Amino acid sequence: MKKAVVFGAGGFIGSHLVKCLKAEGYWVHGVDLKYPEFSPTVADKFTIADLREKENVETALKDNIDELYQLAADMGGAGYIFTGDNDAHVMHNSALINLHSVQACVDYKVEKVFYSSSACMYPEYNQLDPNNPKLAENTAYPAQPDSEYGWEKLFSERLYLTFQRNLGLNCKIARFHNIYGPEGAWNNGKEKAPAAICRKVAQAKEGESIEIWGDGVQTRSFLYIDDCVDAVRLLMQSEESGPFNIGSEEMISINDFAKLIISISGKDVKIKNIDGPTGVRGRCSDNALVSQKLLWTPNIDLKTGIEKLYQWIELVHENSKHS
Ligand code: NAD
Repeated sequence: MKKAVVFGAGGFIGSHLVKCLKAEGYWVHGVDLKYPEFSPTVADKFTIADLREKENVETALKDNIDELYQLAADMGGAGYIFTGDNDAHVMHNSALINLHSVQACVDYKVEKVFYSSSACMYPEYNQLDPNNPKLAENTAYPAQPDSEYGWEKLFSERLYLTFQRNLGLNCKIARFHNIYGPEGAWNNGKEKAPAAICRKVAQAKEGESIEIWGDGVQTRSFLYIDDCVDAVRLLMQSEESGPFNIGSEEMISINDFAKLIISISGKDVKIKNIDGPTGVRGRCSDNALVSQKLLWTPNIDLKTGIEKLYQWIELVHENSKHS
């Protein structure tokens, strides 16, 4: 039986990944500062530990581990990353986890490690036109991410790749683009646009307006969690290292995205654009390389995925009123 460790197993993507690994027959050890919030973990072992501490990273990896999935990071949506208020913590906390992880993987001979980077590492100058963003993997340099979160991701990508070149670490790197779905942050200040807008619509009364940050012309693409987990597994089983974009090519403006969610809700809700942190003007995954090298394309279209997220947000929102 293969042994996998998932760092960040109490978080959104990590908790879904644990379910997938278990379904595939892995023995799984999850590590996080917290348990998954919305359903009990299915991991064989779950440790509450701070991965900024070297000892905790080493303890998790010393026992003949085949695969590490390193998803732990200090992160959140635009309200967390683009205000600047959390920059020191974002950089310091995530960099420490990655520095300890690469060294322990080499020291304890972990066979393969997956690292979750982000589309936020791409240069801002290629994301100024909402209708024509350029995010092919080879456009990363000259580097100019628009957030410290993006700079840390870029640094850590390079860290994993140097350990691969010099010390034989077998690493696999994905640049995730806006992953969404049930059982993610929705109301704690770390939620991202899909969950935040679904929540606002679910909370709105008939005839009310919801606030959308920025002019709403900014574009994004969103990838459903099941597609994300499938892509991670495919990358881990491949001979490739990446970095690869793991995202959707279905680009939509934020106002049209809000309208889609409103139409799913069946409510009469309007949009009010207000000032707020928005990030780059245009962003959409470019999947040319990943579809060629891994033969991967997403299966779940935006409307289908958002319907599932909206149903879940409605449910947790209703439940939260009674708790
Ligand atoms: P998440 O915040 O839900 O999960 C991250 C987890 O890491 C959290 O449960 C958190 O408690 C844990 N963590 C943070 N600091 C820790 C520490 N010191 N010790 C132990 N655990 C710690 O985020 P997510 O959406 O599941 O993202 C997972 C990974 O994917 C992150 O690295 C993130 O940067 C990356 N990513 C996510 C997206 C997205 O759209 N969700 C996009 C790009 C990249």
